[in-house]
Amino acid sequence: MTASDGSDTAGQAAPAQRQVEALVIGLGFAGLSAVHQLRERGVDVHALDAAGGPGGIWYWNRYPGARCDVQSLWYSYGFSDELQQEWEWSEKYARQPEILRYAEHVTDRFDLRRDCTFSTRVTAAEFDAGADRWEVVTDTGTRIRARFLVTATGCLSSSRIPELTNADAFRGRTFHTGQWPHQPVDFTGRRVGVIGTGSSGIQIIPMLAAVADRLTVFQRTANFSIPARNRPYTPEEQRSVKADYPGIRVAQRRSHAGALHSGTGRSVLDVTQEQLAIELESRWEAGGTAFMGSFTDILSDDRANHLVAEFARDKIRRIVTDPETAEKLVPRGHPIGAKRICVDDHYFETFNRDNVDLVDVNAEALSGFTENGLCAGSREIALDDVVFATGYDAMTGALTRMGIRGRDGLSLEQAWRAGPRSYLGIAVHGFPNLFIAAGPGSPSVMVNGVMAGEQHAEWIADAIAFLGANGISRIEARRADQDAWVQHVNDVAAKTLFPKANSWYMGANVPGKPRVFMPYTGGFNNYVDTCARVAADGYAGFDLSAQSTGAAAARLRGSR
Ligand code: NAP
Repeated sequence: MTASDGSDTAGQAAPAQRQVEALVIGLGFAGLSAVHQLRERGVDVHALDAAGGPGGIWYWNRYPGARCDVQSLWYSYGFSDELQQEWEWSEKYARQPEILRYAEHVTDRFDLRRDCTFSTRVTAAEFDAGADRWEVVTDTGTRIRARFLVTATGCLSSSRIPELTNADAFRGRTFHTGQWPHQPVDFTGRRVGVIGTGSSGIQIIPMLAAVADRLTVFQRTANFSIPARNRPYTPEEQRSVKADYPGIRVAQRRSHAGALHSGTGRSVLDVTQEQLAIELESRWEAGGTAFMGSFTDILSDDRANHLVAEFARDKIRRIVTDPETAEKLVPRGHPIGAKRICVDDHYFETFNRDNVDLVDVNAEALSGFTENGLCAGSREIALDDVVFATGYDAMTGALTRMGIRGRDGLSLEQAWRAGPRSYLGIAVHGFPNLFIAAGPGSPSVMVNGVMAGEQHAEWIADAIAFLGANGISRIEARRADQDAWVQHVNDVAAKTLFPKANSWYMGANVPGKPRVFMPYTGGFNNYVDTCARVAADGYAGFDLSAQSTGAAAARLRGSR
């Protein structure tokens, strides 16, 4: 079988007409885990992915420099001790090819391919209220009826290219970091433009600068970035983690973000300037996102945040030799960390190279393409290649574009017109038997993504197994419980500085998208406890019903 992007695929062809108990959409880390967990519980499951193979975000993001900024030994599954013992991570922050190899290894090791169909995109999914089943249609003409629909379509999978006039006229090549070709792309000696300076832009820019004849970076918002200081793992580090993996997995679930950085446990405002500088300096030298976990109030107190932001701004001024360029690169107007903190490998140093230019598109607006390049302000910048590192319609884009229609024909797009509303980030009132892995309203993008996906996959698989064992054909989140959860998500976000930035967390990067803070910031540990409590209480907050009792759908449990 050959994928639309030319890659080889191996998986099951989905029969033209099929009925399953659970259909999983998306085979990134959450989806793979869901297939495994459902199968382990004896549920008849099939899965689809538009990609030519497993890996989700790591399948698509093949751009030079793509790597994870969560430590590899943590950014991996905990469901199988054999798996975590036998897999060897080479580096602290693994590169995309290694993470993709891991996803493929898991797929094969647990024989998941036999229940997966790749290169198949869902175009519509409608709930048949008479039968308590989802009717799913794909772009290959397959129709699948499933009792339960599990979407695992990823929070950062719906890539965005800004509308620039005259795009068809451009004679050069264009790329998006999130839809990178499978074949290596040679930028040697070329004039390359990169639009966007988020995590992806910050990773690809140094790689392109090293080979391009000229690199022009188009920046709209300067970003905070911490040096990664990546390095190979030592055998001793691997051994010591593996010796205590079960304990580490528990500790990850007991942590705020699924990572095990230790902080000082103190407020920025309770230490002297000298103590603050020593602590931040040592974390800057150690590298990575542990910098942000140094003090308790960096993301909740303006004054604390300002002091830490000033430290990071000062670093940029010291690294970048041209003061004018340095000032353009100094982030202003948003708290450090309120836009996703970036982690880099010599990003700011790249602007000391003779072949790199920085264009501030606030001063020189990008008006569109010409045959030969891009127009910024009054000038035309000649380019052979344009790389869009312009991000995603995050968290909701993949879900609202899939043609999901729940009870009474209500589309998810309509239901979420004023912003996503969900119960626990897993379920949506009006959409029975739909489970969302890492949906808006769950910690998802605020935490280690593999852990978040795995925890949701387990919870969803348990729920589906419970429903099957109890003859329950329909589960639906109650509106009141959904409203209360949305309120809680908003309340905890309001105690942080996150809503103060125009970030993709807020939907601010997509013109017209409602400004709602989408992820749950109350801590992975608290979230895991809440989900466990809901399940232990017989799926509190959900209406459960059995079709066998008739169209009126007898309530199996009294009103809560
Ligand atoms: P992003 O963070 O949304 O960054 C997109 C960039 O494009 C921003 O600088 C944005 O500017 C700019 N942009 C968008 N539209 C533009 C326009 N019309 N004109 C000029 N500039 C424009 O997207 P991303 O970099 O792909 O990262 C998304 C997320 O993926 C990250 O936050 C992170 O969670 C994840 N990620 C992680 C890693 C890692 O683990 N190291 C690597 C890559 C991605 P504004 O800021 O002004 O909107």
